[in-house]
Amino acid sequence: MSVAENIDASLDEDAAPKDLTDGFHLIIEALKLNGINTIYNVPGIPITDLGRYMQAEGMRVLSFRHEQHAGYAAAIAGYLTKKPGVCMTVSAPGFLNGLTALAHATTNCYPMILLSGSSEREIVDLQQGDYEEMDQLAIAKPLCKAAFRILHAEDIGIGIARAIRAAVSGRPGGVYLDLPAQLMAQTMDAAAGEKSLVKVIDPAPAQLPAPEAITRALEVLKNAKRPLIILGKGAAYAQADDEIRALVEKSGIPYLPMSMAKGLLPDTHPQSAGPARSLVLKESDTVMLIGARLNWLLSHGKGKAWGDNEKKFIHIDIEPTEMDSNVEIAAPVVGDIGSCVTALLDAMGDDWAPPPTEWTEAVNTKRQSNIERMAPRLQNNNVPMDFHGALGVLRTIIAERPDAILVNEGANTLDFARGIIDMYKPRKRLDVGTWGVMGIGMGQAIAAAVETGHPVLAVEGDSAFGFSGMEIETVCRYNLPVCIVVFNNGGIYRGTDVNPTGGPDVAPTVFVKDARYDKMMEAFGGVGYHATSPDELRQAVNEAMDSGKPSLVNAVIDPASGTESGRIGNLNPQSVVSKKK
Ligand code: ADP
Ligand code: MG
Repeated sequence: MSVAENIDASLDEDAAPKDLTDGFHLIIEALKLNGINTIYNVPGIPITDLGRYMQAEGMRVLSFRHEQHAGYAAAIAGYLTKKPGVCMTVSAPGFLNGLTALAHATTNCYPMILLSGSSEREIVDLQQGDYEEMDQLAIAKPLCKAAFRILHAEDIGIGIARAIRAAVSGRPGGVYLDLPAQLMAQTMDAAAGEKSLVKVIDPAPAQLPAPEAITRALEVLKNAKRPLIILGKGAAYAQADDEIRALVEKSGIPYLPMSMAKGLLPDTHPQSAGPARSLVLKESDTVMLIGARLNWLLSHGKGKAWGDNEKKFIHIDIEPTEMDSNVEIAAPVVGDIGSCVTALLDAMGDDWAPPPTEWTEAVNTKRQSNIERMAPRLQNNNVPMDFHGALGVLRTIIAERPDAILVNEGANTLDFARGIIDMYKPRKRLDVGTWGVMGIGMGQAIAAAVETGHPVLAVEGDSAFGFSGMEIETVCRYNLPVCIVVFNNGGIYRGTDVNPTGGPDVAPTVFVKDARYDKMMEAFGGVGYHATSPDELRQAVNEAMDSGKPSLVNAVIDPASGTESGRIGNLNPQSVVSKKK
C-alpha cells in the first residue's frame, strides 16, 4: 500500500475494520475450505477463542478433559474417514499430552493433524522463560510424519494445505502444525486473505502399481501350493472393500484378518482362517500381505510361529521402504491398495485356478475344530464371570448389531475379545493398534460415535479404562450412544496378586476391591449397570444399546481369571533371581 492509499484508508474509518481479517478466521476458513469441520480439543491459552470462533462459524468443536484423548479421537477419526482428524491443544504441557496421540497416529498410519498454540518465538528462541515456553516444533519433529510452523497470517492457507497433504498422501500419518499465539491476532486485508487460502486438490492421489509388479506377484501366487492372504488395517483404511472381497473370493485363498481388518469380510466367511491362525502361519508356503506390516504382531515374518518351510511373500503397500523390512519380499507391489487390488483382479483373468483342495480342506478342518472346541466355553454361566462367559454374551450382541462399532482395549480383555467377537462389516473394530497401547478407549469411542453416528460398544479392561475414564463426562456431555463395558477383575491382568512382604500396600497390579465403575457414569447423568452374571450382562448391554444413552456396565469378572500380560507375556524380561511368593 502506498503512503497515499494508507492515508485514504485511515480516513475511511468504517471501511477499514470490515476489510480486515485475522489469523483466527483464516485458520477456520482454510480448514472449512478443505472439508475439515470437526475439531477434538482441550481449550486454554492461546487457543480458547479459536475454538469459540470455530463453533460460531459452524464447525463441531468437541472439548475433552485431557489432550491425549482428544488426540486419540482425532487419530481414529482420520482412520475412519480418510481425512485428517484434527486435535487442538494449548502450548507446552497440552502439546506434550497431545503428542503421544500424534506419535500413535504416525505409528498406526492414521492421518491426523495436531494444532498446538505456542508461545512467543522471540522469547522461546532466546530461552527467556515465557509462559509455557517450549520449542514445540523441534520436539514434535521426530515423532510425526511432518511438522510445520506458520509465522505469518498470509501463510495460513498454504500451511494448512501442506499439513493436510502430508497427513493423507502416501502412507498416512501424524502432522504437527505450530500456531504461535501472535499469529492468531495478526491481521491482513480480507480479500488478500481469502485469496491466500488453498483448496487441496486430490490430497491422496492414486498410486498405480507397475504392471510388471502385478505380473510378478501373480506368477508367485500361481505357483503356490498353500497360499495365504493377510489383510491388515491398511486394507481397511483404504476403503476398497468390494475390490478386496472380490480378490479374496476370486482367488479362493484362505485369508487371515489382522485385528482391525476383522469384518473387512465377515469373520464367518468360509475362507476366513482366523480360527486356524497358527496352522496357516506355519504351513503356508506363499503369503500375500495387503496393508499389513511384518512387525511384532506377525512375529516379523520368521521364527517358530512361521514354521520351518520356506515362504515367499507378496507385499502390497503404499510405502516402498516397507518392502524387505523384516524378510525378503519375492513380489513387492507398491501402490495404493484400491489400485493394486484392482490391477491384480484384472490380470487374474476369468480362469484363475483355486488353491489345491488339500490345503483349503486342511484349513477348514482346523477352523471347524477350533470353533467347536470354543463354543461350550462361550456359553458358560459361571458366577463370578470368566472372560469367556462374558465375551460369549458380547459376541452374540455384536452378531445381532453388526453396525455397532466395537472399541476394545485391555490385556486379557483385548486378547480374548479379538478372538471371540466376530465382526461383520469393515472398520467396525477399533483397538489398541500397532503399539498395543492402553488408553485409546474413550477417545476412540467418542470419535467413532461422532464420525459415524453408529452406536459404540467399548469393551474395556478395568486397568485400560482407567487411562481415559474421566472422558465419560465427555460422552455424557455430548450425549453419545456409547455403551462401555468394564471387565472388572480388580487389577492389572488379574486382581489376586499379594504383597510378598506382608506390608500394608497391595501388590502393584491390584486395584480397589469391588470397585463400582457404574457409579462414575451415574455421576455425570449417564446410566450405570452392575452385572454379575452373563444373563445380567446380556440384559444390561441390550438395554443400553437399545436406549442409545451414555451407559457403563460394571461387569464383575473373577479376580483370579486373567493371565500375565494376556497373550504377550513372553515380552516380559525374566529375572534370574526367582520371584518371592
Ligand atoms: P496391521 O497392524 O493391521 O497389520 P499395519 O498398520 O501394520 O496393519 O499396516 C498397515 C499398512 O498399510 C502400512 O504399512 C501402510 O503403509 C499401509 N497402507 C495404509 N494405507 C494404505 C493405502 N491406501 N494403500 C496401500 N497401503 C496402505
Ligand atoms: Mg483387570
